[in-house]
Amino acid sequence: MKFGTKAIHAGVEPDPSTGAIMTPIYQTSTYVQASPGDHKGYEYARTQNPTRTALESSLAALENGQFATAFGSGMAAVDAIIKSLRPGDEVISTNDLYGGSYRIFTKVFEPYGIKFHFVDLSNTENLSSLINDNTKMIWLETPTNPLIRIIDVEAVVNIAKPRGIKVVVDNTFASPYLQNPLDLGADIVMHSITKYIAGHSDVVMGCVVTNDEAFHQQIRFIQNAVGAVPGPQDCFLVLRGIKTLHLRMRAHCENGAKVAHFLKSHPKVSHVYWPGFEDAPGHEVAKRQMRDFGGMLSFTLKGDQMDDALKVLEGTSLFSLAESLGGVESLIGHPASMTHASIPKEEREKSGLSDTLIRLSVGVEDAEDLLEDLAKALDKV
Ligand SMILES: *Cc1c(COP(=O)(O)O)cnc(C)c1O
Repeated sequence: MKFGTKAIHAGVEPDPSTGAIMTPIYQTSTYVQASPGDHKGYEYARTQNPTRTALESSLAALENGQFATAFGSGMAAVDAIIKSLRPGDEVISTNDLYGGSYRIFTKVFEPYGIKFHFVDLSNTENLSSLINDNTKMIWLETPTNPLIRIIDVEAVVNIAKPRGIKVVVDNTFASPYLQNPLDLGADIVMHSITKYIAGHSDVVMGCVVTNDEAFHQQIRFIQNAVGAVPGPQDCFLVLRGIKTLHLRMRAHCENGAKVAHFLKSHPKVSHVYWPGFEDAPGHEVAKRQMRDFGGMLSFTLKGDQMDDALKVLEGTSLFSLAESLGGVESLIGHPASMTHASIPKEEREKSGLSDTLIRLSVGVEDAEDLLEDLAKALDKV
């Protein structure tokens, strides 16, 4: 089945009790049993909820995985994956990682004895020197946030697999429409559903998808034991969002390309980070592992002055200044003070994230209006 058909049909069945074509919002905390242990597969809503079950089936199908588990946020999904590790285990991750992931790794899990290394994984040669017997996981994002670097998932898998190291891909930036890491050999895919999958900036949610049944059972156990589950209403909203995921992603990509080319040719812009340019460092890998180049891009201004960056950040009106990404509306952000503020300045600079970098999440409005909005803001510089 092709992606758009899966987005509309996978995982969802007409409701068995009424035939309702849309999965109902099962707003219930418990389920009546005929006799102790004699139930219809549902006992208590932390453990199972039919609206969540439908969503999990849909998410698994979108990522070409067998098993998906939904969580109350992307961070709860990250938390569950790391809780599968034990003290003494080591994780190698990218150095321009999502700030919240960096924070949970270093501030929450390091004190429990799990060790994290951060390197530029767009050069996979950096991996070998960090791998040792304790390395249990490689954690990557591609495209990375906010420098939109591309990591070759198959190259990482080729190093990790023979050593029994699990490869986790945070696929939030690409969305399942653009990239399916399990097909590239990754063991685990994680999403902040909050972004492209939900797509309408009205839900916070996350998920873990895998083909590894033993790992899935471990994640299910953690989901039930810890309890960071999404509510049925939010699951319904995400199921609804998924039905247009392919349509939205096509529009995000089309607009992303127009904005990237506009900025690249603008006299006040010094550099645009977007993998669709033929001379972008990860272009060939992106072409191989992604369906298109996405609607996320970052740029810097000539002169690299903070006041100039602020004029652009405050000067747009269609691009709203806000955290987050992947919604239908365009957003502009300042990673150094917003999404990546939890990463220390020296770490940010080491990874090439300058304080004047501006990030765009290009929405699905009409491109002409978006370009005009950016042109006006750049005029103020
Ligand atoms: C937003 C985001 C997260 C965290 O997800 P929440 O839903 O906000 O908890 C993790 N990774 C990436 C790449 C993100 O953009």
